Formats: sequence, C-alpha cells, structure tokens
Amino acid sequence: MNELTTLPGQPASRALFLDRDGVINHDAGYTSHKDQFTFIDGIFDLCRAAVAAGYKLIVVTNQAGIGRGYYTEQDFLELTDWMRQQFVDMGCDITEVFHCPFHPLHGQGIYKQESENRKPNPGMLLTAARKYAIDMAASVMVGDKDSDMEAAQRAGVGTRCHYIAYGGNESHSAFATHTIHALPDAVAFL
Ligand SMILES: [Mg+2]
Repeated sequence: MNELTTLPGQPASRALFLDRDGVINHDAGYTSHKDQFTFIDGIFDLCRAAVAAGYKLIVVTNQAGIGRGYYTEQDFLELTDWMRQQFVDMGCDITEVFHCPFHPLHGQGIYKQESENRKPNPGMLLTAARKYAIDMAASVMVGDKDSDMEAAQRAGVGTRCHYIAYGGNESHSAFATHTIHALPDAVAFL
C-alpha cells in the first residue's frame, strides 16, 4: 500500500513550496539576522492566496552558511521564529520550514558532507510529502535558482515557477514549468 495514501474522506493536501533566500527575502548573501531580512514584494499576497486555496506553505531552504560557520543553527532558528511570526501576522501561517545546513566541500566538521536534503537533491521536499501526505503532482514550487526547480522536478512537484526578478540575470531553468517576474504571478498557477 502506498504510504502516501490518505484515509477515506481525507483528501491529500497540496503545498506551495517556497525557497527562502531570493523568494521570501532579498538574497543579501548568507542572511542570518532579522536586521538583514527584507521581504520581497508580493510574497504575502501570494501566500495568502495559496492558503485561501487550501495549500500548505512549506519552506525548503539550503543553509550552507551554517556549515560554513558563518552563523549557527541557533541563529537560523531564531531568525526562522521571527520570520514565521511575520507570516502569522500577515494571515498566512507557514506549516514547516525545512533547512539543510550541509555543504559537501565548504562545510566544517560534521557539516562537510553530501546530503540528500541539499537542493538540487529532493530530500526536504520528499520528507514534507511523507509527513503531510502531499499530492506532489498538484503542488507548486517557487524558487529563484535552477537547483530549486531541479529539486522540485525530482520530487514530483507538478508546477515549478522560476522566479526571476525584473533585472535579474538568471536564465530560464529547463526544470521549470513557468517563469515569473513578480511573485503574485504565481497565483495564476494555484
Ligand atoms: Mg534562493
């Protein structure tokens, strides 16, 4: 029996998967404190629309800055608590934030390792899928990097929106199903 099968009367949930840096907040490079954390225009509009449409909000974020020793796991968790409270205040609660602290080359000590969770590997998304019985084909991922789109495709996420801000220099990801230039544009794909 498929472990993702839900009980009768309990439809599988859909999720809006979000990368953090470059989607929720402007990517300042290894953001580790709320004073450096600036929300990107439209993120709350997108997330409120997703919640209204019945999606869970799930963040999947590579945080190799922990492994590199730029900031600690505790710094990350404190920033995450603050960030989640901002979403609560804006009327769109985040279900869970998954992060990967490892880096195969630049991690220090125990953090120097390959990880199935480090995007473009799909581990964080697959863990979320099992934990919340998510219908991945009916779910959406928004990310700003090719690696986000690859991770989502490998996890079976049906709709993969590559967010390239106006003036951004990323080129369209071959793993994406759509490219958007403003976050609320993803509402059309919910
Ligand atoms: Mg990013």
